[in-house]
Amino acid sequence: MATLQNFIDGEYTSSEAATEAVLNPATAQELAQAPCSSPEEVDQAVAAARAAFGGWSGATPAVRAQALLDLAQTVEDHGEELALAEALNAGKPIAAVSADEIPVIADNLRFFAGAARCLEGRAAGEYMEGYTSFTRREAVGVIGQVTPWNYPLMMAVWKIGPALAAGNTIVLKPAETTPITTLRLAELAGEILPRGVLNVIAGPGNPTGEALINHPDVDMVALTGSVETGKHFARTAAASLKRVHLELGGKAPVLVFDDVALESALETIAGTGYYNAGQDCTAATRVLAHGSVYDDVVAGLADQARGLVIGDTLASDTTLGPVNSARQRERVTGFLERRPDHAEIVTGGNAPERPGFYVEPTVVAGLAQTDEMITSEIFGPVITVQPFSDEAQAIAWANATRYGLASSVWTRDVGRALRVSKALRFGCVWINDHIPLVSEMPHGGFKESGYGKDLSVYSLEDYTVVKHVMANLS
Ligand code: NAD
Repeated sequence: MATLQNFIDGEYTSSEAATEAVLNPATAQELAQAPCSSPEEVDQAVAAARAAFGGWSGATPAVRAQALLDLAQTVEDHGEELALAEALNAGKPIAAVSADEIPVIADNLRFFAGAARCLEGRAAGEYMEGYTSFTRREAVGVIGQVTPWNYPLMMAVWKIGPALAAGNTIVLKPAETTPITTLRLAELAGEILPRGVLNVIAGPGNPTGEALINHPDVDMVALTGSVETGKHFARTAAASLKRVHLELGGKAPVLVFDDVALESALETIAGTGYYNAGQDCTAATRVLAHGSVYDDVVAGLADQARGLVIGDTLASDTTLGPVNSARQRERVTGFLERRPDHAEIVTGGNAPERPGFYVEPTVVAGLAQTDEMITSEIFGPVITVQPFSDEAQAIAWANATRYGLASSVWTRDVGRALRVSKALRFGCVWINDHIPLVSEMPHGGFKESGYGKDLSVYSLEDYTVVKHVMANLS
C-alpha cells in the first residue's frame, strides 16, 4: 500500500512520523497510509512558506494570475485522474465529481486569476495640506489553512486560490481522512509555482493542525470545518492575535410556500438535500412547508429519496454514495436512534447491509422546533420536514438556529420572496432554487457559521491587509 508524503518546499518529503490508514468510504478498504505529521514537519513547511513569501508577494498580479490560470489548466488536464482519486477517497459518485466538481474547480481558479488583477483601494489624495496619502493592499503573509473531508479538492482550491492571488504563501492541512487529492494538487502546482509557495502536510487535528495554528510564524489561520473546531481556532489565534477566517457548519432552512410548482421544486430540494450524501454545509435538509402543502411535500420528498440509487461510487448509475467515515455514519445514525417518540421516519432511517459507510436516504416528519434533528447539523442524507402556518412563523423558525450559512425560499409571489430573503439571517438566500454557486459571488456565514468569505473578490480582500502611506510633499 502506498505511503503518502508531505509536499514541502517544492517536493515530496519523507516523514519519520507514524502513519494512519486512509480508507475508501464505499468499501472500508485501505487506499494508502498518510503521515501524522509532527510539529517539526509543520515547522519545516512554515519555514519554506516564509522563505517564499518575499518573492511571491512581490511578483506582479499578472505573474500570479498566470500561475493560477496554468493551475486551472492542469486541473482540467488531470481531471479524470483527480475525479477518480476524489471519488475513491471521499466516497463520491464519480459522475458527480467529473461533471460538477472538476469544472467548477477550474472555473474557481480562473476567477481567482482574474481577480488577482482587479483588487481596488479607495481614492488616493491630499487629505492634509502638503501631504499625499494612498492605500496599499498587501498580502497578509504565511497562511495556515485547514480543510474538511466533504469536498477535499474544492475546499482546498477555495482556500488556496484567493490566498495565492493576493500574494500570500501557504501551509495547508487537509482532513486526515481525505488527503490524497490535495497532496496531488500540490505536486501538480509544484510544476507551476515557485518552491515553498504552496506546502501541504497530512495529519490529524492534533498534533499536526495544532502545531500549525499555534505556530508563531503563521500570520493568519483559515478553516473550513465544524463550529467547535472554528471556536477552537479563534480562541487559539487570540493568544497572538492571528487573523482568522472561518467557514463553518450550516443547517439550511428551505421555506416552501403553497403557491409553488411542487413537483419540480421537490426534485431540486431532494437533489440538493441528498447531494454528496447530505455532507454539504448548505444542504437543503431542513424543510419548512406551509401547512396546506405539508403532506404533499413529505410524500414527494420520500418518493425522491426512494428513487436514489445507492451503490459503488465508480458505477455510473449511482446517485447516493456513502458518508465519509465510520465515525460520520455513527454520528448520523445516532440522531436517528435518539429520535423522540413523536418523530416519524417516512422513509429510510437505517444503515444498509453492505460494506462501506452508507446511510439510507431518509425523510423525517413530525419533529418539533426544539428537537436536536432540527437544531443540530446532521451532515448526512437526512431531510426533516415541519409544517408552518404563516410567513411570520416560517421566518421565525428558519432563523431560530445558531447557524447562518444558507437558506432558500420557494414562492411565485415576488413581494414575499423579497420580504423573506431580507428577513432570513443567513449568508446566502436562494429564491426558487437551492445550492447553485458562482465564483463571482461570496459564500460564507453569519452567526456560528463563521466569518470571512470564500469565492468572490471578498475572499481576496480577506487575505490582504490595508496600509496607509502618507508622503510629506515638501
Ligand atoms: P472538523 O472541524 O472536525 O475538521 C475540519 C478540519 O479541522 C480537519 O482537517 C481536521 O483535522 C481539522 N482540525 C480538527 N481539530 C483541529 C485542531 N484542534 N487544530 C487544527 N485543526 C483541527 O470538521 P469535519 O467533521 O472534518 O467537517 C465537517 C464540518 O465542516 C461540518 O460541520 C460542515 O458543515 C463544515 N463545513 C463547512 C463548510 C463551509 O463552507 N462553511 C464547507 C464544508 C464543511
